[in-house]
Amino acid sequence: MEEAFMQRTATCGSLRAADEGKTVVLNGWVHRDRNHGALHFINLRDRYGMTQVVVDDDASEELQKAAGELKLEYCIAVKGIVRRRPDDMINPDMATGEIEVKAERIDVLSKCDVLPFMIDEENNAREDLRLKYRYLDLRCSGMQKRIALRHEIVKAIREYFYKTDFLEIETPTLIRSTPEGARDFLVPSRIYPGKFFALPQSPQLYKQLLMVSGFDKYFQIARCYRDEDPRGDRQLEFTQLDIEMSYVKRDDVLSLMEDLFGDVFKKVLNVTLPAHFRRLSYHDAMNTYGSDKPDLRFGLEMHDAASFAAKSTFNAFTETLQNGGSVKYIVAPKTEGHDYTRKYLGELETAAKIYGAHGLAWMKAENGTISGGVSKFFAGMESEVLSATGAKDGDVILLVAHQDWKKCCTSLGAVRSRLGADLGLIKEGYEFCWIIDFPLFEYNEDEGHWEAAHHMFSMPQAEYLDTLESDPGSVKGDLYDLVLNGYELASGSIRIHDVELQKRIFRICNIPDEVSKERFGFLLDAFRFSPPPHGGIAPGIDRLCMIVANEQSIKEVIAFPKNTAALSPMDDSPSPVEEKQLDELHLIIKKPE
Ligand code: ASP
Repeated sequence: MEEAFMQRTATCGSLRAADEGKTVVLNGWVHRDRNHGALHFINLRDRYGMTQVVVDDDASEELQKAAGELKLEYCIAVKGIVRRRPDDMINPDMATGEIEVKAERIDVLSKCDVLPFMIDEENNAREDLRLKYRYLDLRCSGMQKRIALRHEIVKAIREYFYKTDFLEIETPTLIRSTPEGARDFLVPSRIYPGKFFALPQSPQLYKQLLMVSGFDKYFQIARCYRDEDPRGDRQLEFTQLDIEMSYVKRDDVLSLMEDLFGDVFKKVLNVTLPAHFRRLSYHDAMNTYGSDKPDLRFGLEMHDAASFAAKSTFNAFTETLQNGGSVKYIVAPKTEGHDYTRKYLGELETAAKIYGAHGLAWMKAENGTISGGVSKFFAGMESEVLSATGAKDGDVILLVAHQDWKKCCTSLGAVRSRLGADLGLIKEGYEFCWIIDFPLFEYNEDEGHWEAAHHMFSMPQAEYLDTLESDPGSVKGDLYDLVLNGYELASGSIRIHDVELQKRIFRICNIPDEVSKERFGFLLDAFRFSPPPHGGIAPGIDRLCMIVANEQSIKEVIAFPKNTAALSPMDDSPSPVEEKQLDELHLIIKKPE
């Protein structure tokens, strides 16, 4: 029987000088096609690389004709002989640059329609066009590299766990709806009219149940679904490395993660990470960097201005301090090629105001004294301000006052972030850190009750057990976040494994016993049967890959993401369904008004 098509014997990235003289078949796409009279140069591309195919000017008429009819992105098979390029034609930028393939036969395997964009290293088409033709966007070598990088990272993670006692266990994707935090995606049941499954926001409860079952070390690369409004760089579905362990304390989880990331970064990037990552309490991270996910690739620390601001004649400062508020400052360093113009200071102020600051005060260190901005309120204390802040000529002291410590920190933190980027202070590399000792509860102003800062299954620190109800705001939890280069990479906690304590937390979060029994009955039931102490964590795979790929959006490391409006322009989902499908599901659509 005749072969359907000429199948490749080598890839477009594999041939070297040592292959000279071999007859090979290549399959791939026409990346570039240049004609010099009867001489054709075809760059043939596949996922492994690019090879130059040459149709010599003395080639047969048939071959000349075949070459002449090629167009960009045609999928072809080429049979030919590997030959060395003349010395002056060697291309050191191409892995296959020492050779070319002298074509003897070219078959078109399939033709290509008019392309919506060029298939290049990076695709500069607008995002919706890229996503509409995602399969073509994925042909671009930038996307090819990132998808392969993601594979390497996930492979390294799995290899790490396979060397240990961890078991990889799948948990269901059709589960009971237990809304907490984000909104659940619901799946109507056809068999049970009026009932629904939910897609998991994370395998949280199932991994805790696995601990009750005795699988004391569990991991899974899990898909998670959250029906949130599109905002920032979020996706409706994402992937996390889900981990849970029994009989552990916080530091056991932290050490495991340090070891895992050390291993993965060495394997994938040949980067040696420190054996232990820096630890900052939530309070110190906020107080010093104005963020609970600080970018530690640069310093620019924030400080308390109370010692000198209290003595100024600036009411905004003195009154804030008298009423127990905070005044903090940052010293923006003199930087070559960068002027602290009023316009620029105005931009920094705008950044601060987004986080609640009423304004951004400033003064310049100049000629051994301070001038401009609020300096006039420090008359007679110029040298005290300079020595307290350490500001040198050309530096600018930036200050925020706010009654609310957190707002003071986050708004000056936003200024810090802007400065870090604008002044080019961000060093290359990877700065991991742990944020620990988070508050267990946050007050939901809109709904007027306390809620879990992470999730409701996290253990309060022992010293707060007696004051949970009387002073929820001061309770610290056994929670931890792993931060990398200013991104929250993972969150986790030591969990509650006591029914009564779990119910107390539910009640504080405005979930009375009847409701918690209804929603979380299966967990509370399981906790009646000797649950072991346990804890875990879940690093986000999309974000990890994004940071390692040096990209700004997780879409760049997801093969088929949704767009910023949470739609897929490629398959046009979400889409209406047929009446028959709705009938089967016992659903009637309420038309939006
Ligand atoms: N399930 C949590 C989350 O998705 C992570 C954890 O606590 O392990 O954020």
